[in-house]
Amino acid sequence: MIPAQFDYVAPSTVDEALSALAEAGEDAKVLAGGQSLLPVLRMRLNVPSLVVDLGRIEALRGVRDDGDAIVIGAMTPHIDVLTDPLVREHAALLSEAVGHVADPQVRHRGTFGGALAHADPAGDLGAPTLALGASFVVAGSNGTRTVEADDFFEDLFTTAVQDGEILTEVRIPKHTAWGAHYEKFVRVAHQWPIVAVAAAVKVSDEGTGATISEARVGLTNMGLTPLRARSVEAALVGQPATDEAVRAAAASAAEGTSPPSDLNGDADYRRHLATVLTRRAVLAAAGV
Ligand SMILES: Cc1cc2nc3c(=O)[nH]c(=O)nc-3n(C[C@H](O)[C@H](O)[C@H](O)COP(=O)(O)OP(=O)(O)OC[C@H]3O[C@@H](n4cnc5c(N)ncnc54)[C@H](O)[C@@H]3O)c2cc1C
Repeated sequence: MIPAQFDYVAPSTVDEALSALAEAGEDAKVLAGGQSLLPVLRMRLNVPSLVVDLGRIEALRGVRDDGDAIVIGAMTPHIDVLTDPLVREHAALLSEAVGHVADPQVRHRGTFGGALAHADPAGDLGAPTLALGASFVVAGSNGTRTVEADDFFEDLFTTAVQDGEILTEVRIPKHTAWGAHYEKFVRVAHQWPIVAVAAAVKVSDEGTGATISEARVGLTNMGLTPLRARSVEAALVGQPATDEAVRAAAASAAEGTSPPSDLNGDADYRRHLATVLTRRAVLAAAGV
């Protein structure tokens, strides 16, 4: 099917894009890499009167160092996040997770901000941004506001970005020297995750053996939005970085989740997967 007719603009600044959105009202749609939006338009699940293409706004691309955080522009393609040395050094969890997004073709077209704004519950990038305590910068006609990761993902395919607003960048507090691992479970290569777990841990050794001093764990596809495994995080802190201690903490990974049931597995299967993948992710992050 081909999309219904729409008007198209490709502004070169965020202000121009915001004006175009304001003028068109709630029927306007923002286009980033088009990897999710174009199929939606082709199936006519959305029929916008205007598409505002962000592809020419250079200010929305790239990764920069901002003191205690790195900042990733919303229009940065996945492939650039994957290969960026700042991301690798200070947010290794994201480097790893973005390498699991789809296939090279999609990683060259799809964008970091587009994937997060799309908020697919099986998307690979939400859980790592939760685990790393990211902040989302959103621009609108009344200026710019910042939304913490814990408040960004509101519901199925729904974020704190409102009609007429644009996600401009994502700030990731530096997690230099933290161990990180993204454990994704799929049946075939390049599949969306059945369940995945993003773990970042800080391990210290003050003569009594390796101990987990801080832990952040995010879950993918265990509910309508990405989730924090808070009881696992609490149970890990102060524990030795051993298989036994991590296995015990990971047992509560499915607490407070509501995973879907589908052809890839039912909810109980996903709850079980969450505990197994959390153990694997934390052990790998801790270097055990
Ligand atoms: C075959 C295939 C396999 C895939 N597999 C995976 C996978 O395994 N894991 C995974 O995580 N993802 C996967 N994806 C999705 C991929 O990550 C897409 O890149 C992503 O979903 C959308 O990014 P995009 O830049 O193409 O956004 P678009 O498709 O252009 O936009 C998506 C939505 O976000 C909105 N939007 C985009 N940018 C902004 C912005 N800056 N501000 C406000 N709203 C915005 C758009 O209006 C639209 O509603 C897959 C996609 C395909 C086609």
